[in-house]
Amino acid sequence: MAKKTVKDLNVSGKKVIVRVDFNVPIKDGVIKDDNRIVQALPTINYLVEQGAKLILLSHLGKVDHKDPEKTVSDKKKNNMAPVAARLAELVDVPVKFCDVTRGEALEAAVEALKEKEILLVQNTRYEKGESKNDPELSKYWASLADLFVTDAFGSVHRAHSSTVGVAEILPSALGFLVEKEVVALGKAVHNPERPFVAILGGAKVSDKINVIENLLTTADRVIIGGGMAYTFLKAQGKEIGTSLCEDDKLDLAKEIMAKAGDKLVLPVDFRVAAAFSEEADNYLADDSAIPSDYMGLDIGPKSVELFTKALEGAKTVVWNGPMGVFEMKTYATGTIEVCKAISSLPGAYTVIGGGDSARAAIENGFQDDFSHISTGGGASLEFMEGKELPGIAVIQEK
Ligand code: ADP
Ligand code: MG
Repeated sequence: MAKKTVKDLNVSGKKVIVRVDFNVPIKDGVIKDDNRIVQALPTINYLVEQGAKLILLSHLGKVDHKDPEKTVSDKKKNNMAPVAARLAELVDVPVKFCDVTRGEALEAAVEALKEKEILLVQNTRYEKGESKNDPELSKYWASLADLFVTDAFGSVHRAHSSTVGVAEILPSALGFLVEKEVVALGKAVHNPERPFVAILGGAKVSDKINVIENLLTTADRVIIGGGMAYTFLKAQGKEIGTSLCEDDKLDLAKEIMAKAGDKLVLPVDFRVAAAFSEEADNYLADDSAIPSDYMGLDIGPKSVELFTKALEGAKTVVWNGPMGVFEMKTYATGTIEVCKAISSLPGAYTVIGGGDSARAAIENGFQDDFSHISTGGGASLEFMEGKELPGIAVIQEK
């Protein structure tokens, strides 16, 4: 890889801005899952060991800057203070917290930083200019430090001040988490050992058009399940009842199928339900027998068998998107079975990209059974689209 990594920087005694992804779920001031903080620790600990002065920047939730009342309540809800407290428990050095994103208090806190100390700055989205990559804001934040490291993989697909603007000004490098993601996803998407099979699902075709099209050009087989399969089935003239369907994507689905030929594998049976609910009347139906008032909420056992066959012998597998409404136990079987099928492939390099797919795999106990589970939902999706991620593109070459 040609991008500089944190090991290429001389950080001793230097002020280093590290863009982390501390966008953790918080309810009533309590962190529900600290995984994102934990994932950033290798880079943070390395910089501490090297004697850097760390200035951590992250966003947390969203802040509305249009409605003043909403701005106040969003800021209150998405205050970074609980994150600083949790981080302090996870590292061996002092963690200071600055509850503003600019001004004398921040500048004084930065000046007071000693080597091996960490300063976590308030939520970057307190600044209206953050999401607009405002040059004035970028220049201001950059003026606080000597170096920039990006370790926020979940945010590198966004060109914001803290992800791109600051990096355009300061000498920069990738942190260990971003480096790991780029290498792991790149190995599957750019350099797959063949046969390469992609398995796509999730709710909407429109979310995944670019992923489908890109993977159809690189993969040897593309399997489609989940809600988006029904648009394809309808485009084939099948009755899909009240299943999810994007009528404005029917022509596109036809085009994709014509181009893909037998590269594309679609499900052949489903668990159909009378309503979008766990308790609704539900049963297994073939693709020729979905009643007009039922909706497909999971793939059925024949589809699992078909998909398992299509995966056989694969040396690289990329999975994005659940096979059904896995959040409800009744419709989680297809997703779990596909998880099993992928993770038991002998000698295959297996990658999950996509927030919900990763969650489905982890919640069902498959966290150690894949070669790589990406930490970035939107970022891994854009990576699989073959797009250049702005927060990585901006980092200096070696
Ligand atoms: P990822 O985050 O892995 O990229 P998506 O966000 O595209 O995945 O899709 C996940 C969502 O798709 C889940 O909330 C799931 O309930 C929904 N989904 C999957 N299959 C169906 C279906 N048959 N009908 C409705 N929703 C579905
Ligand atoms: Mg999702």
